[in-house]
Amino acid sequence: MSVDPYMRGRMKDVKSYTPPWQIGQPLDGGAIGEVIESRVDGIGAGDLVVHPLGWREIALLNARQAQKITAPPGVPESAFLGVLGMPGLTAYVGLLDIAELRDDDIVFVSGAAGAVGSLAGQIAKRKGHTVIGSAGSAEKVAWITDELGFDAAFNYRDGKVSTLLREAAPDGIDVYFENVGGEHFEAAIRALRTRGRAALCGAISSYNDDSPAPFQLMQAIGKRLTLRGFIVSDHNDRRQAFIDEVGPWVAEGHVKFRETIVDGGVEAAPQAFIDLLRGANVGKMLVRF
Ligand code: NDP
Repeated sequence: MSVDPYMRGRMKDVKSYTPPWQIGQPLDGGAIGEVIESRVDGIGAGDLVVHPLGWREIALLNARQAQKITAPPGVPESAFLGVLGMPGLTAYVGLLDIAELRDDDIVFVSGAAGAVGSLAGQIAKRKGHTVIGSAGSAEKVAWITDELGFDAAFNYRDGKVSTLLREAAPDGIDVYFENVGGEHFEAAIRALRTRGRAALCGAISSYNDDSPAPFQLMQAIGKRLTLRGFIVSDHNDRRQAFIDEVGPWVAEGHVKFRETIVDGGVEAAPQAFIDLLRGANVGKMLVRF
């Protein structure tokens, strides 16, 4: 089962692009399940499906809620919750369609050691761009530079983001893939060059912040304002192109990914979710049932 940052928003009883969870009702979210019984042609007992009814051990699904999956050789099925799933599509659409990546763009990705950011940076690298990343620990910075091939990266806890970004990208940036918000956003806006573009994907630094911030970045994301906020579920028409392009890179090892898997099923899931918001994950945070 996947735990995702957007779930924090579903714990606030406010109008949003996805409805809040209700007290007394089961939670939901992305998961992979093994089919026990099926009345649908093409899906049978033993098949694995991605579905939206996580946070439980047994689910009853409509056919349209279940997407049968077969992982490429050497790739675990769990990749369909991460690099080949919703976070992967988010990286692909955000970079190519929302930020409209162009030749010679210098790209800055925040949250770069997470599920979305680690792929966004690698796609930009595959397409020949200079890529800078930020993450919250030295280990994460080492992973994205040494293994994923980012040209430069910094630990945002080491100083002022604007200073660290200027050192990592002395010529400025053309594209900002925004996952964090707050100080990162302000630094990136300052670093963006003329006609630069920002794909507003997330603002995780504010998700636990109930005080009204002067600039409500999440509003721009949820409401798809002209800063080019976006919500991945509007872009399912791009799923096939994404799988066709990124799938082989993953299968051939050109795109690398990591998963942080917590054992213990639904009892362990709340703590896994809290740990995700604290940055305990490298790559995709998952819970094994
Ligand atoms: P990640 O795998 O990146 O996990 C979350 C990471 O956020 C943590 O590991 C932590 O890493 C970082 N983080 C937590 N608090 C802070 C903070 N205060 N400042 C900076 N970084 C922080 O999650 P995802 O890849 O799934 O999601 C990344 C972003 O994309 C989120 O903002 C999410 O909401 C957004 N998103 C948006 C979608 C859309 O449709 N618009 C769809 C999917 C995701 P670290 O150690 O580096 O701090």
